[in-house]
Amino acid sequence: MDILVIGSVAFDSVETPFGRGDDVLGGSATYFSTSASFFTGVQLVAVVGEDFPDEPRQFLTSRGVDLAGLQTRPGKTFRWKGRYGYDLNEAHTLETHLNVFETFHPELPDTYRQAKFVFLANIDPELQLEVLQQVEKPKLIACDTMNFWIDGKRDALIRTLGHVDILVINEAEVRQLADEANLVKASRAVLAMGPKTLVVKRGEYGVLVFTEHSIFSAPAYPLEEVFDPTGAGDTFAGGFMGYLAATNNLSDETIRKATVFGSVMASFTVEDFSLDRLRKLTWSEIEDRFRRFQTLTAFEGL
Ligand code: AMP
Repeated sequence: MDILVIGSVAFDSVETPFGRGDDVLGGSATYFSTSASFFTGVQLVAVVGEDFPDEPRQFLTSRGVDLAGLQTRPGKTFRWKGRYGYDLNEAHTLETHLNVFETFHPELPDTYRQAKFVFLANIDPELQLEVLQQVEKPKLIACDTMNFWIDGKRDALIRTLGHVDILVINEAEVRQLADEANLVKASRAVLAMGPKTLVVKRGEYGVLVFTEHSIFSAPAYPLEEVFDPTGAGDTFAGGFMGYLAATNNLSDETIRKATVFGSVMASFTVEDFSLDRLRKLTWSEIEDRFRRFQTLTAFEGL
Protein backbone atom coordinates (compact mmCIF):
# COMPACT_ATOMS: atom_id res chain seq x y z
CA MET A 1 0.00 0.00 0.00
CA ASP A 2 1.24 3.50 -0.78
CA ILE A 3 1.93 6.01 1.98
CA LEU A 4 0.81 9.62 1.85
CA VAL A 5 3.32 11.98 3.50
CA ILE A 6 3.23 15.70 4.23
CA GLY A 7 6.37 17.37 5.50
CA SER A 8 9.20 19.69 4.57
CA VAL A 9 11.28 19.59 1.41
CA ALA A 10 14.27 21.73 2.24
CA PHE A 11 17.73 23.03 1.72
CA ASP A 12 19.80 22.33 4.83
CA SER A 13 23.04 23.90 5.97
CA VAL A 14 24.59 21.56 8.48
CA GLU A 15 27.78 21.62 10.51
CA THR A 16 29.06 18.54 12.32
CA PRO A 17 32.49 17.94 13.92
CA PHE A 18 33.39 16.07 10.71
CA GLY A 19 32.46 18.58 8.04
CA ARG A 20 29.77 20.83 6.68
CA GLY A 21 27.24 21.00 3.88
CA ASP A 22 25.63 24.20 2.62
CA ASP A 23 22.20 24.27 1.01
CA VAL A 24 22.13 20.51 0.57
CA LEU A 25 18.92 18.60 -0.10
CA GLY A 26 16.99 17.84 3.11
CA GLY A 27 13.57 18.11 4.68
CA SER A 28 11.48 15.72 6.73
CA ALA A 29 9.36 14.59 3.74
CA THR A 30 12.42 14.12 1.54
CA TYR A 31 14.20 11.79 3.97
CA PHE A 32 10.96 10.01 4.83
CA SER A 33 9.97 9.38 1.19
CA THR A 34 13.38 8.19 0.11
CA SER A 35 13.56 5.73 3.00
CA ALA A 36 9.96 4.49 2.62
CA SER A 37 10.47 4.06 -1.14
CA PHE A 38 12.61 0.97 -0.45
CA PHE A 39 9.42 -0.70 0.84
CA THR A 40 6.45 0.83 -0.98
CA GLY A 41 5.16 3.71 -3.12
CA VAL A 42 4.92 7.19 -1.61
CA GLN A 43 2.64 10.13 -2.38
CA LEU A 44 4.31 13.37 -1.31
CA VAL A 45 2.60 16.62 -0.24
CA ALA A 46 4.83 19.67 0.18
CA VAL A 47 5.81 22.99 -1.37
CA VAL A 48 9.07 24.25 -2.83
CA GLY A 49 10.11 27.63 -4.23
CA GLU A 50 11.12 28.53 -7.75
CA ASP A 51 14.74 28.03 -6.68
CA PHE A 52 14.21 24.25 -6.37
CA PRO A 53 16.15 22.40 -9.08
CA ASP A 54 15.08 19.46 -11.26
CA GLU A 55 17.65 16.95 -10.06
CA PRO A 56 16.02 16.12 -6.67
CA ARG A 57 12.63 15.84 -8.39
CA GLN A 58 14.08 13.36 -10.86
CA PHE A 59 15.77 11.47 -8.05
CA LEU A 60 12.54 11.17 -6.02
CA THR A 61 10.55 10.17 -9.10
CA SER A 62 13.15 7.51 -9.93
CA ARG A 63 12.57 6.09 -6.43
CA GLY A 64 8.83 5.75 -7.12
CA VAL A 65 7.78 8.86 -5.18
CA ASP A 66 4.66 10.50 -6.65
CA LEU A 67 5.20 14.28 -6.83
CA ALA A 68 1.69 15.23 -7.98
CA GLY A 69 1.20 16.84 -4.53
CA LEU A 70 4.45 18.84 -4.60
CA GLN A 71 3.54 22.45 -5.35
CA THR A 72 6.02 24.99 -6.72
CA ARG A 73 5.30 28.56 -5.59
CA PRO A 74 6.94 31.95 -6.14
CA GLY A 75 9.54 32.49 -3.41
CA LYS A 76 12.23 30.46 -1.72
CA THR A 77 12.28 26.84 -0.61
CA PHE A 78 12.23 26.08 3.16
CA ARG A 79 15.70 26.40 4.71
CA TRP A 80 17.07 24.96 7.94
CA LYS A 81 20.48 25.59 9.44
CA GLY A 82 21.76 23.39 12.25
CA ARG A 83 24.85 22.35 14.13
CA TYR A 84 25.87 19.19 15.97
CA GLY A 85 28.63 18.96 18.56
CA TYR A 86 30.33 15.71 19.54
CA ASP A 87 27.03 14.67 21.09
CA LEU A 88 25.44 13.85 17.77
CA ASN A 89 22.13 13.07 19.46
CA GLU A 90 21.29 16.75 19.81
CA ALA A 91 20.72 19.09 16.87
CA HIS A 92 21.11 22.80 17.62
CA THR A 93 18.85 24.77 15.30
CA LEU A 94 20.55 27.99 14.22
CA GLU A 95 18.00 29.21 11.67
CA THR A 96 14.59 28.14 10.37
CA HIS A 97 13.20 29.93 7.31
CA LEU A 98 9.73 28.65 6.47
CA ASN A 99 9.69 30.71 3.22
CA VAL A 100 7.06 29.22 0.84
CA PHE A 101 5.63 27.14 3.73
CA GLU A 102 4.38 30.36 5.37
CA THR A 103 1.48 30.70 2.93
CA PHE A 104 1.14 27.06 1.88
CA HIS A 105 -2.14 25.15 2.09
CA PRO A 106 -2.08 21.54 0.97
CA GLU A 107 -4.50 20.54 -1.75
CA LEU A 108 -4.50 16.80 -2.18
CA PRO A 109 -4.71 15.45 -5.72
CA ASP A 110 -7.76 13.14 -6.05
CA THR A 111 -5.47 10.13 -6.36
CA TYR A 112 -4.15 10.80 -2.82
CA ARG A 113 -7.45 11.02 -0.95
CA GLN A 114 -7.93 7.33 -0.43
CA ALA A 115 -4.52 6.76 1.12
CA LYS A 116 -4.67 4.09 3.81
CA PHE A 117 -1.33 4.94 5.42
CA VAL A 118 -0.69 8.58 6.25
CA PHE A 119 2.50 10.03 7.72
CA LEU A 120 2.43 13.59 9.06
CA ALA A 121 6.15 14.31 8.98
CA ASN A 122 7.62 17.20 10.92
CA ILE A 123 5.88 20.39 9.74
CA ASP A 124 3.37 22.97 11.03
CA PRO A 125 0.66 20.96 12.85
CA GLU A 126 -2.01 23.15 11.22
CA LEU A 127 -0.87 21.82 7.83
CA GLN A 128 -0.89 18.28 9.24
CA LEU A 129 -4.56 18.84 10.24
CA GLU A 130 -5.43 20.25 6.80
CA VAL A 131 -4.16 17.02 5.23
CA LEU A 132 -6.21 14.89 7.61
CA GLN A 133 -9.34 16.83 6.62
CA GLN A 134 -8.79 15.77 3.00
CA VAL A 135 -8.13 12.04 3.36
CA GLU A 136 -11.14 9.75 3.33
CA LYS A 137 -10.63 6.75 5.58
CA PRO A 138 -7.03 6.04 6.48
CA LYS A 139 -6.20 2.79 8.22
CA LEU A 140 -3.19 4.26 10.03
CA ILE A 141 -2.16 7.83 10.82
CA ALA A 142 1.30 8.41 12.23
CA CYS A 143 2.95 11.71 13.08
CA ASP A 144 6.29 13.34 13.93
CA THR A 145 7.01 16.80 15.29
CA MET A 146 9.82 18.79 16.96
CA ASN A 147 10.54 21.39 19.65
CA PHE A 148 9.96 24.24 17.15
CA TRP A 149 6.26 23.27 16.84
CA ILE A 150 5.80 22.11 20.47
CA ASP A 151 6.87 25.63 21.51
CA GLY A 152 5.23 27.59 18.73
CA LYS A 153 1.99 25.72 17.89
CA ARG A 154 1.19 23.63 20.93
CA ASP A 155 -2.63 23.88 20.71
CA ALA A 156 -2.74 22.87 17.05
CA LEU A 157 -0.33 20.03 17.78
CA ILE A 158 -2.53 18.71 20.61
CA ARG A 159 -5.50 18.82 18.20
CA THR A 160 -3.53 16.83 15.60
CA LEU A 161 -2.50 14.27 18.21
CA GLY A 162 -6.17 13.58 18.90
CA HIS A 163 -6.37 12.00 15.41
CA VAL A 164 -3.09 10.11 15.45
CA ASP A 165 -2.54 6.36 15.98
CA ILE A 166 1.26 6.40 16.26
CA LEU A 167 3.46 9.31 17.35
CA VAL A 168 7.16 9.08 16.46
CA ILE A 169 9.28 11.70 18.31
CA ASN A 170 12.62 12.33 20.00
CA GLU A 171 13.19 11.62 23.66
CA ALA A 172 13.71 15.30 24.58
CA GLU A 173 10.49 16.21 22.78
CA VAL A 174 8.46 13.61 24.71
CA ARG A 175 9.65 15.26 27.93
CA GLN A 176 8.92 18.72 26.55
CA LEU A 177 5.45 17.78 25.31
CA ALA A 178 4.48 16.14 28.61
CA ASP A 179 6.38 18.65 30.77
CA GLU A 180 7.70 15.68 32.74
CA ALA A 181 11.33 14.64 33.26
CA ASN A 182 10.83 10.90 33.72
CA LEU A 183 10.61 9.28 30.29
CA VAL A 184 8.20 6.49 31.27
CA LYS A 185 5.80 8.90 32.98
CA ALA A 186 6.17 11.39 30.13
CA SER A 187 5.34 8.66 27.62
CA ARG A 188 2.20 7.71 29.54
CA ALA A 189 1.13 11.36 29.52
CA VAL A 190 1.69 11.62 25.75
CA LEU A 191 -0.28 8.41 25.12
CA ALA A 192 -3.17 10.04 27.00
CA MET A 193 -3.17 12.82 24.34
CA GLY A 194 -4.46 10.39 21.69
CA PRO A 195 -1.85 8.10 20.10
CA LYS A 196 -2.16 4.39 20.94
CA THR A 197 1.54 3.84 20.25
CA LEU A 198 4.45 6.13 21.01
CA VAL A 199 7.80 5.56 19.31
CA VAL A 200 10.57 7.39 21.16
CA LYS A 201 13.74 8.01 19.13
CA ARG A 202 16.83 8.14 21.33
CA GLY A 203 19.60 8.76 18.77
CA GLU A 204 22.56 6.45 19.29
CA TYR A 205 20.70 4.74 22.18
CA GLY A 206 18.01 3.34 19.91
CA VAL A 207 14.23 3.41 20.12
CA LEU A 208 11.59 2.67 22.75
CA VAL A 209 8.06 1.76 21.66
CA PHE A 210 5.37 2.39 24.28
CA THR A 211 1.80 1.14 24.16
CA GLU A 212 -0.67 1.09 27.03
CA HIS A 213 0.43 -2.41 28.04
CA SER A 214 3.95 -2.92 26.70
CA ILE A 215 7.39 -1.44 26.11
CA PHE A 216 9.70 -2.64 23.32
CA SER A 217 13.33 -1.59 23.03
CA ALA A 218 15.50 -1.68 19.89
CA PRO A 219 19.14 -0.57 19.88
CA ALA A 220 20.73 1.72 17.34
CA TYR A 221 23.33 -0.01 15.19
CA PRO A 222 26.78 0.61 16.72
CA LEU A 223 28.54 2.43 13.88
CA GLU A 224 32.19 3.45 13.81
CA GLU A 225 31.58 6.23 11.35
CA VAL A 226 28.77 8.70 11.93
CA PHE A 227 29.09 11.83 9.82
CA ASP A 228 25.76 13.61 9.87
CA PRO A 229 22.72 12.65 11.97
CA THR A 230 20.43 15.01 10.04
CA GLY A 231 17.41 13.14 8.78
CA ALA A 232 17.98 10.06 10.94
CA GLY A 233 14.56 10.49 12.58
CA ASP A 234 12.70 10.94 9.29
CA THR A 235 14.59 8.06 7.71
CA PHE A 236 13.67 5.89 10.70
CA ALA A 237 10.02 6.84 10.23
CA GLY A 238 10.23 6.01 6.49
CA GLY A 239 11.52 2.50 7.15
CA PHE A 240 9.06 1.99 10.00
CA MET A 241 5.99 3.13 8.05
CA GLY A 242 7.27 1.60 4.82
CA TYR A 243 7.39 -1.84 6.38
CA LEU A 244 3.94 -1.46 7.99
CA ALA A 245 2.41 -0.32 4.70
CA ALA A 246 4.16 -3.03 2.67
CA THR A 247 2.89 -5.77 4.99
CA ASN A 248 -0.46 -4.03 5.58
CA ASN A 249 -0.38 -5.47 9.07
CA LEU A 250 -0.43 -3.65 12.40
CA SER A 251 0.17 -6.49 14.86
CA ASP A 252 2.62 -6.00 17.76
CA GLU A 253 5.02 -8.39 16.04
CA THR A 254 4.96 -6.36 12.83
CA ILE A 255 5.42 -3.11 14.75
CA ARG A 256 8.55 -4.60 16.36
CA LYS A 257 9.97 -5.64 13.01
CA ALA A 258 9.08 -2.26 11.53
CA THR A 259 11.00 -0.62 14.40
CA VAL A 260 14.09 -2.61 13.44
CA PHE A 261 13.67 -1.75 9.73
CA GLY A 262 13.40 1.91 10.73
CA SER A 263 16.60 1.60 12.77
CA VAL A 264 18.36 -0.12 9.86
CA MET A 265 17.44 2.70 7.47
CA ALA A 266 18.49 5.43 9.95
CA SER A 267 21.83 3.69 10.50
CA PHE A 268 22.64 4.20 6.81
CA THR A 269 21.56 7.85 6.60
CA VAL A 270 24.00 8.99 9.29
CA GLU A 271 26.99 7.51 7.43
CA ASP A 272 27.13 10.43 4.98
CA PHE A 273 25.83 13.98 4.47
CA SER A 274 22.36 14.81 3.19
CA LEU A 275 20.74 11.87 1.35
CA ASP A 276 24.05 10.74 -0.13
CA ARG A 277 24.13 7.32 1.56
CA LEU A 278 20.46 6.56 0.79
CA ARG A 279 21.06 7.40 -2.85
CA LYS A 280 23.59 4.54 -3.11
CA LEU A 281 21.80 2.08 -0.84
CA THR A 282 20.75 -1.36 -2.11
CA TRP A 283 18.13 -3.78 -0.80
CA SER A 284 20.77 -6.44 -0.09
CA GLU A 285 22.61 -4.00 2.20
CA ILE A 286 19.32 -3.41 4.05
CA GLU A 287 18.78 -7.16 4.50
CA ASP A 288 22.35 -7.68 5.63
CA ARG A 289 22.08 -4.99 8.30
CA PHE A 290 18.69 -6.30 9.42
CA ARG A 291 20.40 -9.66 10.11
CA ARG A 292 23.17 -7.91 12.03
CA PHE A 293 20.53 -6.27 14.21
CA GLN A 294 19.14 -9.73 14.95
CA THR A 295 22.58 -10.98 16.00
CA LEU A 296 23.16 -7.84 18.05
CA THR A 297 20.08 -8.39 20.19
CA ALA A 298 19.73 -12.19 20.31
CA PHE A 299 20.01 -13.93 23.69
CA GLU A 300 18.70 -17.15 25.20
CA GLY A 301 15.87 -17.35 27.69
CA LEU A 302 16.29 -18.59 31.30
P1 AMP B 1 15.64 14.85 11.69
O1 AMP B 1 15.20 13.56 11.09
O2 AMP B 1 14.92 15.15 12.98
O3 AMP B 1 17.12 14.99 11.79
O4 AMP B 1 15.10 15.99 10.70
C1 AMP B 1 15.95 16.77 9.91
C2 AMP B 1 15.19 17.52 8.84
O5 AMP B 1 14.13 18.27 9.42
C3 AMP B 1 16.08 18.50 8.11
O6 AMP B 1 16.36 18.02 6.81
C4 AMP B 1 15.29 19.82 8.12
O7 AMP B 1 15.16 20.37 6.84
C5 AMP B 1 13.94 19.46 8.68
N1 AMP B 1 13.43 20.47 9.62
C6 AMP B 1 14.13 21.17 10.56
N2 AMP B 1 13.33 22.01 11.23
C7 AMP B 1 12.08 21.85 10.71
C8 AMP B 1 10.79 22.43 11.00
N3 AMP B 1 10.63 23.35 11.94
N4 AMP B 1 9.73 21.99 10.27
C9 AMP B 1 9.90 21.05 9.32
N5 AMP B 1 11.07 20.48 9.00
C10 AMP B 1 12.15 20.86 9.69
